[in-house]
Amino acid sequence: MRTFTPDSSIASDVIPSANYGDRAKGRQPDMIVLHYTGMPDVEGAIRQLCAAGTDVSAHYIVLEDGRIVQLVPEARRAWHAGVSSWAGEDDINSCSIGIEIVNRGHDWGYPEFPLRQIAAVIALCRGIMLRRNVPSHRVLAHSDVAPSRKKDPGEKFPWHSLANSGVGHWVQPAPVVRGESLKLGTISESVRDLQQALARYGYAIPRSGKYDGATMEVVTAFQRHFRPARVDGVADHSTLITLQSLLASLPAKAVAVAAR
Ligand SMILES: [Zn+2]
Repeated sequence: MRTFTPDSSIASDVIPSANYGDRAKGRQPDMIVLHYTGMPDVEGAIRQLCAAGTDVSAHYIVLEDGRIVQLVPEARRAWHAGVSSWAGEDDINSCSIGIEIVNRGHDWGYPEFPLRQIAAVIALCRGIMLRRNVPSHRVLAHSDVAPSRKKDPGEKFPWHSLANSGVGHWVQPAPVVRGESLKLGTISESVRDLQQALARYGYAIPRSGKYDGATMEVVTAFQRHFRPARVDGVADHSTLITLQSLLASLPAKAVAVAAR
Protein backbone atom coordinates (compact mmCIF):
# COMPACT_ATOMS: atom_id res chain seq x y z
CA MET A 1 0.00 0.00 0.00
CA ARG A 2 1.11 3.55 -0.70
CA THR A 3 1.98 5.81 2.17
CA PHE A 4 -0.57 8.37 3.33
CA THR A 5 -0.84 11.47 5.49
CA PRO A 6 -1.58 10.56 9.12
CA ASP A 7 -5.10 11.42 10.35
CA SER A 8 -3.76 12.27 13.79
CA SER A 9 -1.41 15.24 14.04
CA ILE A 10 0.47 13.48 16.84
CA ALA A 11 1.26 10.35 14.81
CA SER A 12 5.00 10.62 14.13
CA ASP A 13 5.24 7.98 11.44
CA VAL A 14 3.24 6.05 8.88
CA ILE A 15 3.99 2.40 8.14
CA PRO A 16 1.29 1.37 5.65
CA SER A 17 -0.37 -1.98 6.33
CA ALA A 18 -1.49 -4.21 3.50
CA ASN A 19 -4.45 -5.39 5.57
CA TYR A 20 -7.60 -3.29 5.31
CA GLY A 21 -10.84 -2.92 3.41
CA ASP A 22 -13.89 -0.68 3.09
CA ARG A 23 -16.20 0.01 6.00
CA ALA A 24 -19.58 -1.68 5.47
CA LYS A 25 -22.19 0.59 3.87
CA GLY A 26 -20.08 3.66 4.53
CA ARG A 27 -20.42 3.17 8.31
CA GLN A 28 -18.56 5.99 10.03
CA PRO A 29 -16.51 4.96 13.07
CA ASP A 30 -17.99 6.01 16.41
CA MET A 31 -16.11 3.60 18.65
CA ILE A 32 -12.49 3.08 19.71
CA VAL A 33 -11.23 -0.41 20.54
CA LEU A 34 -8.03 -0.64 22.60
CA HIS A 35 -5.71 -3.65 22.34
CA TYR A 36 -2.31 -4.80 23.48
CA THR A 37 0.04 -6.33 20.96
CA GLY A 38 0.67 -9.44 23.11
CA MET A 39 3.99 -10.18 21.43
CA PRO A 40 7.54 -10.31 22.81
CA ASP A 41 8.91 -7.54 20.58
CA VAL A 42 7.74 -4.40 18.77
CA GLU A 43 9.28 -5.21 15.40
CA GLY A 44 7.44 -8.53 15.26
CA ALA A 45 4.18 -6.85 16.20
CA ILE A 46 4.51 -4.20 13.48
CA ARG A 47 5.46 -6.83 10.91
CA GLN A 48 2.41 -8.88 11.90
CA LEU A 49 0.10 -5.86 11.60
CA CYS A 50 1.45 -4.76 8.21
CA ALA A 51 2.56 -7.79 6.17
CA ALA A 52 0.20 -9.03 3.48
CA GLY A 53 -1.38 -12.37 4.32
CA THR A 54 -1.56 -12.05 8.10
CA ASP A 55 -5.11 -10.68 7.83
CA VAL A 56 -4.64 -8.48 10.90
CA SER A 57 -4.04 -4.76 11.29
CA ALA A 58 -4.99 -1.73 13.36
CA HIS A 59 -5.23 1.97 12.63
CA TYR A 60 -2.54 2.90 15.13
CA ILE A 61 0.16 1.36 17.25
CA VAL A 62 1.41 3.18 20.35
CA LEU A 63 4.96 2.30 21.35
CA GLU A 64 6.23 2.09 24.93
CA ASP A 65 8.06 5.43 24.61
CA GLY A 66 4.85 7.14 23.51
CA ARG A 67 5.58 7.31 19.81
CA ILE A 68 2.48 6.79 17.66
CA VAL A 69 2.63 5.10 14.26
CA GLN A 70 -0.37 5.00 11.94
CA LEU A 71 -0.80 1.82 9.88
CA VAL A 72 -4.24 2.19 8.24
CA PRO A 73 -6.12 5.39 7.30
CA GLU A 74 -9.07 6.00 9.64
CA ALA A 75 -11.47 6.06 6.67
CA ARG A 76 -10.63 2.40 6.00
CA ARG A 77 -11.72 -0.71 7.83
CA ALA A 78 -8.77 -2.20 9.74
CA TRP A 79 -8.84 -5.83 10.85
CA HIS A 80 -8.34 -5.71 14.59
CA ALA A 81 -11.53 -6.84 16.36
CA GLY A 82 -12.22 -10.22 14.73
CA VAL A 83 -15.42 -11.99 15.74
CA SER A 84 -16.93 -9.49 18.15
CA SER A 85 -20.08 -7.70 19.20
CA TRP A 86 -21.20 -4.60 21.09
CA ALA A 87 -24.59 -3.01 21.67
CA GLY A 88 -26.26 -5.21 19.08
CA GLU A 89 -23.67 -4.61 16.38
CA ASP A 90 -21.44 -7.44 15.10
CA ASP A 91 -19.21 -5.79 12.52
CA ILE A 92 -17.03 -3.97 15.04
CA ASN A 93 -14.25 -3.37 12.51
CA SER A 94 -16.65 -1.32 10.39
CA CYS A 95 -17.73 0.95 13.26
CA SER A 96 -14.46 1.39 15.12
CA ILE A 97 -10.92 2.74 15.18
CA GLY A 98 -8.46 0.11 16.44
CA ILE A 99 -5.43 1.08 18.54
CA GLU A 100 -2.72 -1.45 19.39
CA ILE A 101 -0.71 -0.63 22.51
CA VAL A 102 2.70 -2.26 22.68
CA ASN A 103 2.72 -4.61 25.68
CA ARG A 104 3.88 -8.23 25.79
CA GLY A 105 0.60 -9.25 27.38
CA HIS A 106 -0.48 -12.04 29.71
CA ASP A 107 1.48 -14.75 27.88
CA TRP A 108 4.82 -12.92 28.17
CA GLY A 109 4.89 -11.53 31.70
CA TYR A 110 2.39 -8.68 31.28
CA PRO A 111 4.42 -5.61 32.31
CA GLU A 112 2.88 -2.35 33.54
CA PHE A 113 2.02 0.22 30.88
CA PRO A 114 4.57 3.09 31.05
CA LEU A 115 3.14 6.55 31.82
CA ARG A 116 4.52 8.05 28.60
CA GLN A 117 2.68 5.41 26.62
CA ILE A 118 -0.60 6.01 28.47
CA ALA A 119 -0.25 9.77 27.95
CA ALA A 120 0.12 9.13 24.22
CA VAL A 121 -2.92 6.82 24.15
CA ILE A 122 -4.96 9.52 25.92
CA ALA A 123 -3.86 12.25 23.49
CA LEU A 124 -4.54 10.02 20.47
CA CYS A 125 -8.00 9.00 21.74
CA ARG A 126 -8.95 12.57 22.59
CA GLY A 127 -8.16 13.66 19.05
CA ILE A 128 -10.15 10.80 17.51
CA MET A 129 -13.11 11.40 19.87
CA LEU A 130 -13.18 15.05 18.90
CA ARG A 131 -12.79 14.54 15.15
CA ARG A 132 -15.13 11.55 14.93
CA ASN A 133 -17.62 12.41 17.65
CA VAL A 134 -16.92 9.21 19.59
CA PRO A 135 -18.82 9.22 22.91
CA SER A 136 -16.80 8.29 25.99
CA HIS A 137 -18.76 5.11 26.67
CA ARG A 138 -17.72 3.77 23.28
CA VAL A 139 -14.02 3.65 24.12
CA LEU A 140 -13.73 -0.04 24.91
CA ALA A 141 -11.38 -2.97 25.41
CA HIS A 142 -10.96 -5.74 22.88
CA SER A 143 -12.02 -8.02 25.77
CA ASP A 144 -15.30 -6.10 26.05
CA VAL A 145 -16.30 -6.79 22.44
CA ALA A 146 -14.86 -10.35 22.34
CA PRO A 147 -15.06 -11.62 25.95
CA SER A 148 -14.84 -15.33 25.07
CA ARG A 149 -11.62 -14.92 23.08
CA LYS A 150 -9.67 -11.92 24.34
CA LYS A 151 -8.07 -10.48 27.49
CA ASP A 152 -6.51 -7.31 26.10
CA PRO A 153 -5.56 -4.68 27.08
CA GLY A 154 -6.18 -6.38 30.44
CA GLU A 155 -6.62 -5.53 34.11
CA LYS A 156 -3.35 -3.54 34.34
CA PHE A 157 -4.58 -1.03 31.79
CA PRO A 158 -5.23 2.22 33.71
CA TRP A 159 -8.78 3.02 32.58
CA HIS A 160 -9.13 5.40 35.56
CA SER A 161 -6.27 7.55 34.21
CA LEU A 162 -7.94 7.71 30.81
CA ALA A 163 -11.28 8.63 32.40
CA ASN A 164 -9.59 11.40 34.41
CA SER A 165 -8.63 12.89 31.05
CA GLY A 166 -12.10 12.51 29.57
CA VAL A 167 -11.41 9.27 27.68
CA GLY A 168 -13.75 6.35 28.38
CA HIS A 169 -16.64 5.80 30.75
CA TRP A 170 -15.58 4.68 34.20
CA VAL A 171 -16.71 4.79 37.81
CA GLN A 172 -14.81 4.13 41.01
CA PRO A 173 -15.21 0.37 41.67
CA ALA A 174 -17.03 -0.67 44.85
CA PRO A 175 -14.67 -2.27 47.40
CA VAL A 176 -14.39 -6.06 47.47
CA VAL A 177 -16.13 -7.40 50.59
CA ARG A 178 -17.18 -10.83 51.83
CA GLY A 179 -20.73 -11.93 51.10
CA GLU A 180 -23.12 -13.64 48.72
CA SER A 181 -22.18 -13.95 45.09
CA LEU A 182 -23.51 -15.31 41.82
CA LYS A 183 -21.27 -17.83 40.14
CA LEU A 184 -21.00 -20.62 37.59
CA GLY A 185 -24.01 -22.94 37.84
CA THR A 186 -26.35 -20.53 39.67
CA ILE A 187 -29.85 -20.38 38.14
CA SER A 188 -31.99 -17.51 39.44
CA GLU A 189 -33.81 -14.29 38.68
CA SER A 190 -30.79 -12.44 40.09
CA VAL A 191 -28.65 -14.02 37.35
CA ARG A 192 -31.18 -12.87 34.76
CA ASP A 193 -31.04 -9.34 36.22
CA LEU A 194 -27.24 -9.41 36.04
CA GLN A 195 -27.32 -10.58 32.41
CA GLN A 196 -29.88 -7.90 31.60
CA ALA A 197 -27.68 -5.22 33.19
CA LEU A 198 -24.57 -6.37 31.31
CA ALA A 199 -26.57 -6.41 28.05
CA ARG A 200 -27.86 -2.90 28.75
CA TYR A 201 -24.27 -1.75 29.00
CA GLY A 202 -23.52 -3.32 25.60
CA TYR A 203 -22.10 -6.79 26.22
CA ALA A 204 -23.35 -9.66 24.07
CA ILE A 205 -24.71 -12.06 26.66
CA PRO A 206 -27.54 -14.63 26.82
CA ARG A 207 -30.43 -13.63 29.12
CA SER A 208 -31.24 -17.15 30.30
CA GLY A 209 -31.10 -16.78 34.08
CA LYS A 210 -28.37 -19.45 34.11
CA TYR A 211 -24.84 -18.48 35.10
CA ASP A 212 -23.15 -20.38 32.29
CA GLY A 213 -19.65 -20.24 30.82
CA ALA A 214 -20.54 -17.33 28.51
CA THR A 215 -21.88 -15.33 31.45
CA MET A 216 -18.70 -15.99 33.39
CA GLU A 217 -16.61 -14.77 30.46
CA VAL A 218 -18.57 -11.52 30.22
CA VAL A 219 -18.32 -10.94 33.99
CA THR A 220 -14.56 -11.54 33.68
CA ALA A 221 -14.32 -8.97 30.87
CA PHE A 222 -16.35 -6.51 32.95
CA GLN A 223 -13.98 -7.00 35.90
CA ARG A 224 -10.84 -6.52 33.79
CA HIS A 225 -12.19 -3.14 32.71
CA PHE A 226 -14.16 -1.88 35.71
CA ARG A 227 -13.19 -3.86 38.84
CA PRO A 228 -9.58 -4.96 38.27
CA ALA A 229 -8.82 -5.70 41.95
CA ARG A 230 -10.21 -9.22 41.47
CA VAL A 231 -10.74 -10.82 38.07
CA ASP A 232 -12.38 -14.17 38.74
CA GLY A 233 -15.67 -14.26 36.79
CA VAL A 234 -17.68 -14.38 40.02
CA ALA A 235 -20.37 -11.72 40.35
CA ASP A 236 -19.75 -10.69 43.94
CA HIS A 237 -21.32 -7.73 45.73
CA SER A 238 -18.59 -5.34 44.52
CA THR A 239 -19.05 -6.42 40.89
CA LEU A 240 -22.83 -5.97 41.04
CA ILE A 241 -22.62 -2.55 42.74
CA THR A 242 -19.95 -1.34 40.32
CA LEU A 243 -22.10 -2.42 37.37
CA GLN A 244 -25.13 -0.63 38.82
CA SER A 245 -23.26 2.63 39.38
CA LEU A 246 -21.75 2.37 35.90
CA LEU A 247 -25.21 2.03 34.34
CA ALA A 248 -26.61 4.83 36.51
CA SER A 249 -23.86 7.15 35.26
CA LEU A 250 -24.36 6.24 31.59
CA PRO A 251 -26.12 8.85 29.43
CA ALA A 252 -29.82 7.84 28.99
CA LYS A 253 -29.42 7.78 25.22
CA ALA A 254 -26.57 5.26 25.49
CA VAL A 255 -28.64 2.80 27.53
CA ALA A 256 -31.52 3.01 25.07
CA VAL A 257 -29.17 2.17 22.20
CA ALA A 258 -27.53 -0.67 24.12
CA ALA A 259 -30.86 -2.28 24.96
CA ARG A 260 -32.02 -2.58 21.36
ZN1 LIG B 1 -6.77 -7.25 20.65
